[in-house]
Amino acid sequence: MSFRQNHLLGIEPLAPDEITAILDLAEDYVALNRSDNKNTDVLRGLTQINMFFENSTRTQSSFEIAGQRLGAHVMNMAMQASSIKKGETLIDTALTLNAMHPDLLVVRHPHSGAVDLLSQKVNCAVLNAGDGRHEHPTQALLDALTIRRAKGRLHRLNIAICGDIAHSRVARSNLLLLHKMENRVKLIGPPTLVPSAFAELGCEVYEDMQEGLKGADVVMMLRLQKERMDGGFIPSEREYYHRYGLDQAKLSLAAEDAIVMHPGPMNRGVEIDGTIADDINRSVIQEQVEMGVAVRMAAMELLARNLQERRAAAA
Ligand code: ASP
Repeated sequence: MSFRQNHLLGIEPLAPDEITAILDLAEDYVALNRSDNKNTDVLRGLTQINMFFENSTRTQSSFEIAGQRLGAHVMNMAMQASSIKKGETLIDTALTLNAMHPDLLVVRHPHSGAVDLLSQKVNCAVLNAGDGRHEHPTQALLDALTIRRAKGRLHRLNIAICGDIAHSRVARSNLLLLHKMENRVKLIGPPTLVPSAFAELGCEVYEDMQEGLKGADVVMMLRLQKERMDGGFIPSEREYYHRYGLDQAKLSLAAEDAIVMHPGPMNRGVEIDGTIADDINRSVIQEQVEMGVAVRMAAMELLARNLQERRAAAA
């Protein structure tokens, strides 16, 4: 059993063999999800609570479907109607939920570190579904599975991550994972959105997109995180598209068989040309969504096994 974590708070604490353990198990779930009977009882009797303090389309529905297919009782907390609106602190909410004995808690929060803090107050396994600009581990894992399936490997690849790196938890989790698996990671964007400090993390930083895309096996585009910007980071969206939007001309500089990725939601015509996003010979954006369910099923199964072992040892 090579997955040793109690929680999935980020990619940072994971060892390469733990990443591989999640991806290998997720492969089984890809097959199950494509079959007629998608249901298992791996999490039978367990309760999963989803708490999303920030909006989400893909991630929340993906975790919900994943839990249901594993046979868990899944509850989505309606955060709009919750006591948070009445001023309850995150910790009080966590303690209240903890008293209901959940087994898996899936949390998204606008503040970096909030999910980690919460995990210290509860007796169940916590999964980070995105905390501020810090980490979004299941996104990086689903991206890794998508890359591994498309390229046949997850090491020694030339990977370009383009756009709003500064505000992106997706970029952070991805570059941590891709480095652990020994890939060459290139970050591309204007200096306002790709601070040079990223070079200290072992990445190559490019302001010129044409230069950065050369020979890339994977081109990962990111959304401009306007909700996390508090000033003028780009001159205009038109200018940004001209310099950093992925169009055919720029993509032709990448490897001939390069794949195009985007975590969604996409701003077509801002960071990516719609025809590239829809080109099934290039874009793996829909595969990313499919892999998301499988990866979340795998992560929840591995965490639930560890939780049950801890409980059995304590009994
Ligand atoms: N859905 C991803 C996230 O939650 C990416 C994005 O919002 O741009 O971070």
